[in-house]
Amino acid sequence: MATTSFTKKTLGLDSTEPALTPPTSSGKATTFAKKPKPAGAKSKKLGIPEGLWTKCPKCSTMVFDKELDENLKVCTHCQHHWRIGARERIHSLVETCTFEEMDAEMTSVDMLGFTGVATYTSKLESYQKSTGLKDAVATGICKIGEHRVALGVMEFSFLAGSMGCVVGEKLTRLIERATEKGLPLIIISTSGGARMYEGMFSLMQMAKTSAALAYHAKARLGYISVLTDPTTAGVMASYASLGDLILAEPGAMIGFAGPRVIKDTTQAELPPGFQTAEFLLDHGLIDSIVPRKEMKQRLIAYLDFLTVPQKNGAAS
Ligand SMILES: [Zn+2]
Repeated sequence: MATTSFTKKTLGLDSTEPALTPPTSSGKATTFAKKPKPAGAKSKKLGIPEGLWTKCPKCSTMVFDKELDENLKVCTHCQHHWRIGARERIHSLVETCTFEEMDAEMTSVDMLGFTGVATYTSKLESYQKSTGLKDAVATGICKIGEHRVALGVMEFSFLAGSMGCVVGEKLTRLIERATEKGLPLIIISTSGGARMYEGMFSLMQMAKTSAALAYHAKARLGYISVLTDPTTAGVMASYASLGDLILAEPGAMIGFAGPRVIKDTTQAELPPGFQTAEFLLDHGLIDSIVPRKEMKQRLIAYLDFLTVPQKNGAAS
């Protein structure tokens, strides 16, 4: 009797075959799928990846952020140059601890009482917080290789690197210091142009910086202008295009008005590669395209060439 009931039970189980294909919706399957988690597993997993991959906008490859940082924010596959901040760039070029910053605390004033979606003052405050800079340029005297150099580096993420009174004044003071001390000058530009929040005061910076550069040139001192993506409008129309040597990073957008504005105005089809560093090199506006990783060594080589007459004098 007992044997009969046992057989019956076995047959019943076989008909549903739970061990081979567990039905997904059944309660038993859910409990089976839930594995006991070790206590430390969750925190460990959160500790490793933090969205550490960036997609290259040019070749669509996913690049590991750490690798990208080590490569100075240049894609390891297609050499696309990402925009980098002023501090990062200074760090990549200057000898350690030699950058003596000038006028770091100089801040813009809202002289027009400009109000749009937000006030100019509130915009300045938020960009000062996000970039750690008081305005869109960092200037100072530093050493690159064996050369003492006056260096100005612009920051695009501060109001699109726009040139207002502070950018103009800081650069003018830098150029004047270089003239006074007999130093070569390097300005690394990236800018959307003059700062509209400061009206005509921003336009006056074009003349001011250019005049200071004229005195620097009169003293027979070298000026290297480095154009990075993007360098446009009022900045391109003043100090950025006045270098004795004009270098650019690969693929940088360089011009006065943007390609869309030119296309709309002229109603003409623009040639391929218009306003890129490569196009401008072909047409003689710039002297050389220098990849970011080679920039420091190339600058040292150019400084060796430009500063030969000063080497015997008291150049510091
Ligand atoms: Zn790429």
